[in-house]
Amino acid sequence: MPDLSSDVLVIGAGGAGMYAAITAAQSGASVLLLDKGQVGRGGATIMAQMTVAVALGQQEPDSVELHLADTLNAGRGLCNEELSKLLCEEGPKRILEMERWGTRWARENGHIKQEMAPGHSVKRCCYVDFLNTGPAVAATLRRKVSEMPAIRRISNLAVVEILVRDGQALGAVALNLVDGELMTIQANSAILAAGGLTKLYERNSASANMGGEAYALALWAGAELIDMEFVQFFPIGHLAPRLVGMDPIMWDPFRYKLGGKLLNGQFEEFINRYGSTDFGKYNATRDIAAYAILKEIEAGRGTPHGGAYLDFRHIPEAELRGAFGPVIDRLLANGIDLTKTPVEVGPMAHYHMGGIRVDVNMQTRIAGLFAAGEAVGGANGANRLSGNAITEAFVFGERAGASAAETKPSRIPWDEALARKELERLDARNRRPSNARATPAALQAELQKVMWENAGPFRTGEKLAAALARIQEMQKIDLPRLSVGGQNRFNLDLQDWFELRAMLTTAEAVVRSALARRESRGAHQREDFPASDDTLLRNQALQWEDEAIVARWMPPVRLKQTRPFHD
Ligand SMILES: Cc1cc2nc3c(=O)[nH]c(=O)nc-3n(C[C@H](O)[C@H](O)[C@H](O)COP(=O)(O)OP(=O)(O)OC[C@H]3O[C@@H](n4cnc5c(N)ncnc54)[C@H](O)[C@@H]3O)c2cc1C
Repeated sequence: MPDLSSDVLVIGAGGAGMYAAITAAQSGASVLLLDKGQVGRGGATIMAQMTVAVALGQQEPDSVELHLADTLNAGRGLCNEELSKLLCEEGPKRILEMERWGTRWARENGHIKQEMAPGHSVKRCCYVDFLNTGPAVAATLRRKVSEMPAIRRISNLAVVEILVRDGQALGAVALNLVDGELMTIQANSAILAAGGLTKLYERNSASANMGGEAYALALWAGAELIDMEFVQFFPIGHLAPRLVGMDPIMWDPFRYKLGGKLLNGQFEEFINRYGSTDFGKYNATRDIAAYAILKEIEAGRGTPHGGAYLDFRHIPEAELRGAFGPVIDRLLANGIDLTKTPVEVGPMAHYHMGGIRVDVNMQTRIAGLFAAGEAVGGANGANRLSGNAITEAFVFGERAGASAAETKPSRIPWDEALARKELERLDARNRRPSNARATPAALQAELQKVMWENAGPFRTGEKLAAALARIQEMQKIDLPRLSVGGQNRFNLDLQDWFELRAMLTTAEAVVRSALARRESRGAHQREDFPASDDTLLRNQALQWEDEAIVARWMPPVRLKQTRPFHD
């Protein structure tokens, strides 16, 4: 018999997973909510300290249509418009629901306060406190989950395979990180809410838990992935001095509220060398800023930690405090005095627009298999508006939970023989003992370097081909030979091995898609194809066939009446 069983299995307990679990339980299902880290404390949600974009229209007039138009515009013609519409339509309901559940959105004169952010036409982004949004929403969802007896929470359980027979999900295999044992889980439906992939990159804003496992699990199970080339790189992520407990992407509101000088390692302004002007107040677009910083580094004019300086020393302390009050004190507690020290910043992988292909019910093409949150691809097309990701986690989580709870018990009964066969195949301890000196963590670090150098913010066919060759070599030669240590209890090598196995498949999906898209669009920038090509206004869908990734082009899902996007 399976080791664990429930109506709905939720894989990943970030914002999307917890929302899905709550909704499924409210719909009458028994729910198993698993996380490879601590439930509600593991992924991006708790790290996202800034804003959530929703057309509440409380700060100034706004509408779902306007939010949708901004989202589609940022997506550069590649959004799945039905998913984008769902995100914009349902966002306000979820924000107000979160408020009823206890999230204290910042308020002003009796209404929820909303701020401007790049790419939005109006003040649309709400938040909790200064830099407290993610921790606050995660706390609300954790509390709500813990109040619902139908939800069983299990931390330290990493799903390593979805069990599928005849196109129907039956459950999953998971690694118990405490005792190193593989376990089987039976469920009528499973929701992949295991977050994004930015840990694939050496420089990232992510938690250690975002290795892109959701994408590999979906692909191996027979679902499709979409838009995998579109990784969002944030141009001014924090590099130095060391910053503890604060958001590595927090500098964006600083620079657009206060202005800041972007300087190279020789303290020179440089943006004018790259076709932009900012008159001493950094306001270049994200793509130009990222390009300019990387080119300065390449030319040997980077800062000691390999980035650029962001300098606020010209701004009086009173002005800094007026705009960011308590944040200035938190920075001081980290030893950073903005009136005296510039900070070092640089591009880093931040979010994934691509992901698992689903319909508006979050259903993949495998019966009983759903996805939610950053794991889903399509809603944001080729680029994402700031603030849309937490909205996506709530909206798609809610929808996935409701859909999964409706799934009737499978017509295909639990297949113990299939489960046992998978356990046998996956049990890393059954692999031949190796005398290889490399550990899975060392190979993960190499993969991160390969991805950063060859499939990062600015790509070429040559570099992508080199990345693909090394990834394939790692899959075929290195991965099977890696040493995973002798003991089972708290064996982190074992955990890293399974994670690496998924990371390699996901990295391959990103690189193959990036190679095939011979144009620059949104977050995908090819130095060898710098222009957009309208014949490529199509999405790439990937599937797993005979142990290999196979791609096809498909037209984007359009709504009947939307305005064409504009540059
Ligand atoms: C530093 C930072 C700042 C951000 N700021 C903002 C912002 O201001 N506004 C905004 O809209 N968005 C922001 N984002 C993006 C946004 O936070 C995420 O897109 C969103 O929170 C994703 O939610 P999720 O539930 O899909 O995934 P996550 O919150 O990442 O949760 C995924 C969970 O899955 C678990 N998991 C992974 N693999 C497995 C496995 N194999 N088995 C079991 N569990 C697994 C992880 O441990 C994790 O707990 C930010 C992201 C980062 C990293």
